[in-house]
Amino acid sequence: MRVLLLNPPGRGVYIRDYFCSKTTKSNYLFHPVDLVVLSGTLASEHEVAVLDCMAEGLAPRDARRRIDALDPAVVVSLVGSVSWDEDRAFLAELAASGRRVLAIGDVLHEDAVRRLAEEPWLEAALDDFANEDALRLLRGATDEVTNATFRAPDGSIVVRDAPRGAREFRVPRPRHELFPRRGYRFSFARTTPFATVLTDYGCPYPCTFCVIGTLGFRTRPVADVLEELDALRADGVREVFFMDQTFGVRRERALELCAALEARGDLSWTAFTRPDRADDALLAAMARAGCHTLILGVESASDELLARYRKGYTADAVVGAFERARRHGLRTVGTFIVGLPEESAASLEATLELALALEMDFMSLNVAVPRFGTPFRTEALALGLARPEELVMDQGGASATLPTHTLDRAEMLRLKRRMVRRFYLRPSYLWRRLRGVRGLGELGRQLGEGWALVRRNLT
Ligand code: SF4
Repeated sequence: MRVLLLNPPGRGVYIRDYFCSKTTKSNYLFHPVDLVVLSGTLASEHEVAVLDCMAEGLAPRDARRRIDALDPAVVVSLVGSVSWDEDRAFLAELAASGRRVLAIGDVLHEDAVRRLAEEPWLEAALDDFANEDALRLLRGATDEVTNATFRAPDGSIVVRDAPRGAREFRVPRPRHELFPRRGYRFSFARTTPFATVLTDYGCPYPCTFCVIGTLGFRTRPVADVLEELDALRADGVREVFFMDQTFGVRRERALELCAALEARGDLSWTAFTRPDRADDALLAAMARAGCHTLILGVESASDELLARYRKGYTADAVVGAFERARRHGLRTVGTFIVGLPEESAASLEATLELALALEMDFMSLNVAVPRFGTPFRTEALALGLARPEELVMDQGGASATLPTHTLDRAEMLRLKRRMVRRFYLRPSYLWRRLRGVRGLGELGRQLGEGWALVRRNLT
């Protein structure tokens, strides 16, 4: 069959992958990793094309024209709570023109039965992008589907939610070459073009506000990852963003991967990890393997808050991890969650003070949203901070956010924007950034990203 992997058009620049949709907080736009992984799987049995309307900046009418020209029998599309009203209207039109539509995204991660009942255009909601369910659905082998909600031939809606206990997964090599070569933006990249690569799926930690912890955790064999990276290298790609949510969970495997990358000696890359995984041995191996930027989850300066949301580490552990990363020559990015119900003006101030004291290279603030399928969503609904029928949410903080016990939505957003300005608009910081830049390309990327970030947080 001719299958189209689609990132649909929209009014904003939306990131909809990995069950976690948002507006871009500055200017970045990665390859949607769900579609990257599915490209390998689907290409093993079908003729696959990719249309990423976000990367190509396509308006709905132009996107429609391109899709009609490609004439796919099946569309496998990302959807997101950040853009749900737009997504459903666009995909309903595609279905009306006779195409089968399967979708994946945060808004379908919970109560998919209801979504299918409400959206007659939707044939199936995938709930895992690293298995073979999409192939099974296209083959009609619905008995074998494990993690999806779909319509049976008699019209009934069937839910499959198999336990996510596996340790490993394999996917045919993702087809990066099907994705646009231009249009993706990543300010941490040292060189272009860059690729987005997944070496594991989900996360074994239980942080209660995070959807990734609800997906189970499994890793790809190192040999499969290397096959993918070698194909990228042969295609001239030397820069990689590893999308693993915690690089190094299985330590021996991470060290094996790093050793193989070090032996290749020509890749430069960025990865996420947790402060309590970032010990000297792992950081040294990552640096030798070409890692230049480490994104560390900080979340908050408050140990109480870290414990309440089951982060499993304290602010002291965060301080140690940043010190070690700097010692190994890595640039650091701290990610934070702001606007949890206990957040106050004082706790935001303490978090900013911590970010400044850690001398991180970049600060990334995520606004707490009641992500589908998370314990935090259950809590936010019980507290009356969110309503079940509110499907639109945005961790980027551009639109819908939650009030906290002491801050209304407007005040929360105002304080968050002020934090961004106070962090990024320090003359000493700007000077340090300029000094760290290697070459005009990187300067251009960082200026573009910085300007977009400040512009979004001006008031
Ligand atoms: S460690 Fe990170 S990715 Fe894993 S559950 Fe916690 S917040 Fe989510």
